Amino acid sequence: MSTLDIEMTRAWLQATAASMNDNAERLSALDAAIGDGDHGTNMRRGFAAVTEKLAGTEPATVGELLALSGRTLISTVGGASGPLYGSIFRAAGKRLTGATATADDLADALRDGLEAVQKLGGAQTGDKTIIDAYAPAMDAFTAALGDGHDLLGAARAAATAAGEGAQATIPLLARKGRASYLGERSIGHQDPGATSTALVFEALAGVLGT
Ligand code: ADP
Ligand code: MG
Ligand code: MG
Repeated sequence: MSTLDIEMTRAWLQATAASMNDNAERLSALDAAIGDGDHGTNMRRGFAAVTEKLAGTEPATVGELLALSGRTLISTVGGASGPLYGSIFRAAGKRLTGATATADDLADALRDGLEAVQKLGGAQTGDKTIIDAYAPAMDAFTAALGDGHDLLGAARAAATAAGEGAQATIPLLARKGRASYLGERSIGHQDPGATSTALVFEALAGVLGT
């Protein structure tokens, strides 16, 4: 699989929705430890709305699908994660103006998404947020392409790095979002948003590999 087309993008978003549904309790349990316990239900609600929205559309470009998903997340998720994830998908969607996207196109688009969420949320690597999964995922994605891997190889490398990044949030002190209110007590818990970000990359690798 060397390019991402509209149907594959749709499958990615649906697989993400299924994964958020399957992992909702786990994500909310992680959030209960350092936040308000709603991250799983937020993500499940948001991506369920995305799936519903996409069912009724025949987009002409990959970017339209992603941008519509971003807008839907912003309007349906109450928590901080709605605007954050929404900004990612909207920014990524802007760049993908064709019916297919190459691995390089997707890398550029996802980098735009990373930039957008950092601009909106102000988090850096090490702040115990989405960024701690997302930034290493993009580094791995780019490195894999540089090593000659295709889109699937890059997505798999990104998924692995995102999962490792999420786990690596456990010893970190939260500096953004609700978890930051806990100060030192945020240490020793895995960040829910980094964990859901890893699920998004795992869903991409999963659909590309089938
Ligand atoms: P809320 O905190 O409003 O209840 P969620 O529980 O859905 O929202 O999402 C919490 C997650 O959002 C955190 O685990 C963290 O990963 C992410 N997050 C919070 N603030 C930021 C930020 N400024 N930048 C990036 N991610 C953030
Ligand atoms: Mg929460
Ligand atoms: Mg909340």
